[in-house]
Amino acid sequence: MAKKIGLDHVQAIAPYVGGRPISEVARQYGLDESKIVKLASNENPLGMPESAKQAMMKAASDLGRYPDSNGFELKQVLSKRLAVPEDWITLGNGSNDILELTARAVADAGDAVVFSRHAFAVYPLATQAIGAKAIEVSADANYGHDLPAMLKVIRSLGDQVKLVFIANPNNPTGSYLQPDAIQAFITQVPENVVIVLDEAYNEYLSPEQRYDAIAWVRAHPNLMVSRSFSKAYGLAGLRIGYGIAQPALTDLLNRIRQPFNVNSLAQAAAIAALQDEAFLLKGYELNRAGYAQLTKAFEQMKLAFIPSAGNFVLVKVGNDDQAGARVNQELLKRGVIVRPVANYGLPQWLRISIGLPEENAAFLEAFSQILKDEKVLA
Ligand SMILES: *Cc1c(COP(=O)(O)O)cnc(C)c1O
Repeated sequence: MAKKIGLDHVQAIAPYVGGRPISEVARQYGLDESKIVKLASNENPLGMPESAKQAMMKAASDLGRYPDSNGFELKQVLSKRLAVPEDWITLGNGSNDILELTARAVADAGDAVVFSRHAFAVYPLATQAIGAKAIEVSADANYGHDLPAMLKVIRSLGDQVKLVFIANPNNPTGSYLQPDAIQAFITQVPENVVIVLDEAYNEYLSPEQRYDAIAWVRAHPNLMVSRSFSKAYGLAGLRIGYGIAQPALTDLLNRIRQPFNVNSLAQAAAIAALQDEAFLLKGYELNRAGYAQLTKAFEQMKLAFIPSAGNFVLVKVGNDDQAGARVNQELLKRGVIVRPVANYGLPQWLRISIGLPEENAAFLEAFSQILKDEKVLA
């Protein structure tokens, strides 16, 4: 008998499925690429900031050299911005890298990693990749994280638990956690359990929703806050994000990361994007308006949606467990790409990334037609 290669826990992983690329949908449905609307990956509808493009082009002339392995300049800018020393910052190849590095640095095969049901898909992936046990805790009544229930589970499992992931806001639900609830949670989680607070959509929070996560990092050596340049900063294709934690935890990540995990174009673009306040503000306002446009339409259509603090909305498209897949198919035929979320345990829902006003309108037109045909709408 042939000897088997590969680890069982790796074999058991269901690979990540992202938003369908425009070119692929165009080929499959015989559509014109320029007419396709993609609202599937929570990308910034403004694209990349012009300032970042310029900085990237300039850096492109030096691509024969390795990038700065320590990201000196970018860390300097972040350090000033966040008021933390540079050795509290880890740069990542996307914030996804920070999530994985943290898991690898603190949890081993057989350990337990805790996260919420309907939480970001990378948490189970990062957990399974290291052979750790994924402990999924039931969500609250609104599909959000149930922090008291998560705390109970962590306490009941004792020393087995090495890591807990929470996201604020969460993707794909958009759920927002109140700062006092997060603070109470962080304070009560045992100090030998590392907490990742994933803030990939932090910049979309309204002024009333904002809070100071860095103050919590100062108070808790077991807290890692992760942030991304992929969403509000419009740099998804360059792959760059960062983590903020006290030096001891940061040092662990630094030991296991690839020496050149963040490329030089990404570093240059991120420095420019961080300083481009006009771009960030424009994207924020566009997102507010787009959220109002979509949710007002959902209300008129009498469709349930989950209030979102991110740049996307989950909308319920039917009552049977094929509804999401079916409506998604119909949208694809009409050149609209959104995200089915059955893999998140939400087969009756679709996640719509908030786009430009005309993209949102194109989605809404196709969507309402489909739901009329489906007899979901009167
Ligand atoms: C998009 C996303 C990320 C990761 O984004 P990167 O492109 O890897 O920076 C992390 N967490 C959540 C919740 C996300 O939705």
